Amino acid sequence: MQFSILGSSSSGNAGLLVTENCKVLVDAGFSCRRLCGMLEERDVRPEEIDAIFVTHEHHDHIAGISTFAKKFGPKVFANPLTAKAIQPKLKCRPEWMLFQTGSQFEYRDLTIESFSIPHDAHDPVGLKFTTGRGDDLFSPIKRMAWVTDLGFAPQTIAQRIQDVDTLVVESNYDPQMLEDDPRRPWALKQRISGRHGHLSNSAAKDLLASISQPRWSRVFLAHLSSDCNSVEAVDNTFADLRGSVPFAIETILSGHGSALAAV
Ligand SMILES: [Zn+2]
Ligand SMILES: [Zn+2]
Repeated sequence: MQFSILGSSSSGNAGLLVTENCKVLVDAGFSCRRLCGMLEERDVRPEEIDAIFVTHEHHDHIAGISTFAKKFGPKVFANPLTAKAIQPKLKCRPEWMLFQTGSQFEYRDLTIESFSIPHDAHDPVGLKFTTGRGDDLFSPIKRMAWVTDLGFAPQTIAQRIQDVDTLVVESNYDPQMLEDDPRRPWALKQRISGRHGHLSNSAAKDLLASISQPRWSRVFLAHLSSDCNSVEAVDNTFADLRGSVPFAIETILSGHGSALAAV
């Protein structure tokens, strides 16, 4: 399994997962043109994308689906409420592959688990992908989890992400920078910091620190707010943890991505 964050911030999110038998996107929150450019940088042609897995219907996760699905025809996996919220915004009817939140299902050589996350969308989910037979050295079991857009992290989520090799978790805002931000009205600040909004840097750190004996080799801090967060703020919050754990904690700068690399 190989994985890359194509890009991540409050204004656009997408990941690329490549296995022996498929290439899939996790969310597609950039224009089709940008997605194609990001894929090209990683030597993947857009026609090769077999499916898009959608976490929820917010624009920063679905912006490219309409044109990308129309041009290249990938299957689109989502739960029914999310699909229902997205379909009216699309120029075509993609091949929807509906799953129930909380269920586990297979696609090609992937096993996918979806789980509820607390966020102000119709039925938002975190996703966990597993591949590999685990029966020999050449097909080890590898797992990746994608958990962004959550107001808080219940214990059930901590349990879900403990055994993945690569974890993408949101570290959205610095509370002080959010409070000081002159452009966001009070109601929006309440929404972001509320129980169905986004994870602050310290909440993300607390989540990571709360999990004993994680299997992680890489943790990506993603979905950073461009106005209400900074690399310095993230670094300050995670400094202690970074110094005391055996896995890499990498910050995805607002709007940037990561190279395609083995999970
Ligand atoms: Zn969202
Ligand atoms: Zn988002």
